[in-house]
Amino acid sequence: MLNEIEQIPDGFLQAEAEQLLTLLGKPTLIHLEGENPKPLFICTLLHGNETTGLYALQLLLKQYLDKPLPRSLSIFIGNVEAAAQKQRRLSTQNDYNRIWPGTLLSDSIETDIARSVTRIMRQRKPFASIDIHNNTGHNPHYGCVNILNPHGLQLASMFSNIAVYFTSPKGVQSAAFSDFCPSIVLECGQSGNQNGIIHVLDYLQTILALDNIPANHPHDLNLFHTLARVTIPGQISFSTRSDKDIQIFEILEQHNFDQLPAKTTFANIKTGISSPFIISNESNEDVTDEFLDYVDGKAILKKPVILSMYTTDQTAIRQDCLCYLMERLSLGHSASRL
Ligand SMILES: [Zn+2]
Repeated sequence: MLNEIEQIPDGFLQAEAEQLLTLLGKPTLIHLEGENPKPLFICTLLHGNETTGLYALQLLLKQYLDKPLPRSLSIFIGNVEAAAQKQRRLSTQNDYNRIWPGTLLSDSIETDIARSVTRIMRQRKPFASIDIHNNTGHNPHYGCVNILNPHGLQLASMFSNIAVYFTSPKGVQSAAFSDFCPSIVLECGQSGNQNGIIHVLDYLQTILALDNIPANHPHDLNLFHTLARVTIPGQISFSTRSDKDIQIFEILEQHNFDQLPAKTTFANIKTGISSPFIISNESNEDVTDEFLDYVDGKAILKKPVILSMYTTDQTAIRQDCLCYLMERLSLGHSASRL
């Protein structure tokens, strides 16, 4: 179920994401020795169509073909089957970023793989864990953390001055690794964008060269907290045109990380359609009524919210969600709650 190897496989540095299934055959954990033995863990392709991490990693490794790595690396290449088909996941698979210890999913091949990788890496005592993702709407580059400790926030602030703190969904890699090392997710905009690859390459070089992660809270970080996740039930149809149960708005993709005022129209709803959205909080309770009113064929925001990952992409919405709703978090406030 899992390859564990100690060298870069032939052809890996030149491979396209779609070719990794042929090259590796299955999810693969690669350990590479460096001068500092405490490894940096890098995780990519948990979602098969999010390729920025792979291509940044290839550029990084090419720089060390004829010189030692400053620090050991452990690299996990995740869903190669979905990558071969340029999909987030196959319909027969669990989502590779919901399968890690702490998951709500029952045991499967995927949860076994994640448990093995976690066990192996826990023993190796990583310096830090970095999981690299893309998203489908228009979003800035940002880091995500699952606990508010200074090391994780410092790692995030070295990537972007925007960071998101979330505790749901469960079973994400970064949360599992937060139990034993500073752990972050990088959200690098849309897959295939060259700027994202270069940004991640620069970041990985910086982290690889670090001796220590500063232990104070970063001061210049705009921190957001995920309050809730917005999904559309399977039986409800939607589109950006007005021919379906819900009309969603492409313009909202431009407002990720902006505060939308109360009374903003969130979507148009066809007459007779009830419960077109489900908004779940971090404890998975239905809190739709806290956020939305339905008036004259429109879903209206009841209070100001900040969106993230809003997308109009059909597959992304069906396989994940329409968007997240967030609030701003002040570090002074959060630190006092630790
Ligand atoms: Zn992802």
